Amino acid sequence: MLKQFAAMLSITLFILLFVVPFTSADQKLKVVATIFPLYDFAREVGGDRIDASMLLPPGVEAHTFEPRPQDIVRLNKADVFLYTGQFMEPWAADLLKGVTNKGLVAVDTSTGISLMDEEEHGEAQGEEHGEEPPEGHAHHGHEGKDPHIWLDPVLAQTMVDTIAQAFSQKDPLNSAFYQANAESYKARLKDLDARFAATLSMCQIRTIIYAGHFAFGYFAKRYDLDHVSPYKGFSPDAEPAPKSIKEIIDTIKSVGSNTIYYEELIDPKVARMISGETGARLELLHGAHNVAKDKIASLSYLKIMEANLPKLKEGLECQ
Ligand SMILES: [Zn+2]
Repeated sequence: MLKQFAAMLSITLFILLFVVPFTSADQKLKVVATIFPLYDFAREVGGDRIDASMLLPPGVEAHTFEPRPQDIVRLNKADVFLYTGQFMEPWAADLLKGVTNKGLVAVDTSTGISLMDEEEHGEAQGEEHGEEPPEGHAHHGHEGKDPHIWLDPVLAQTMVDTIAQAFSQKDPLNSAFYQANAESYKARLKDLDARFAATLSMCQIRTIIYAGHFAFGYFAKRYDLDHVSPYKGFSPDAEPAPKSIKEIIDTIKSVGSNTIYYEELIDPKVARMISGETGARLELLHGAHNVAKDKIASLSYLKIMEANLPKLKEGLECQ
């Protein structure tokens, strides 16, 4: 009898220890996401059953970030690591080599998405003249692939599915919860996409003139817009050439635009210079890479994109 009881107790302990690791309140799935949209998608899918954090410090420019030794420590304690892909986080593979945590599920959220080459954007200003990329750009140049998939609300839905699958794999007991959250969040992304499509189909001006780096390529392609930037490649870490700026000024004049968009988290000095030359007004078009620390709780991918919509509507004259 005592033996039976001991056997039952050990089975019970085994179940508690190995089969139900994430059901109690203090045993949430620990998720580390590199950039803000992944962090936001994770908290939408995971709700209160995960403990989500961002690898990038808030407010840090995403393309120039380099991981620190303490990031390996964080991943060694995590259950799931979400990154955009090798073109946004070229350092992810090396970082993961340093991680000893065999249970970590590392998720490339660009899985299943066909990445665009630089050429598919049309040409970056200045490119047709065969100029070499500026020095120091190569390691962020991502071999010509554009990492900004999250800015297309349709591709964002694929990323949400990938995240829900990863959570379900690591925490199968909560799989139905993650899948249901993913479905309701994807419905909101579909609604966002429908609103962008309806508004942007009516624009008189079809070119987004962006004084930041080339972040809105997938977005522009989705809504059949053109997109020009004085930066080559997809990273804001190099100064644009004067000739590229001159070409942007010419483009503003030729398309009749009165708006020059600038990117988040960087002093918009290039946009200001172009505005000074053309009289075009400055407007923030937020690429959602990262947000300031005091905005992490209050901002979301959806709020950022919803704030971008009226700015595009006005600047591109959509009515
Ligand atoms: Zn970017």
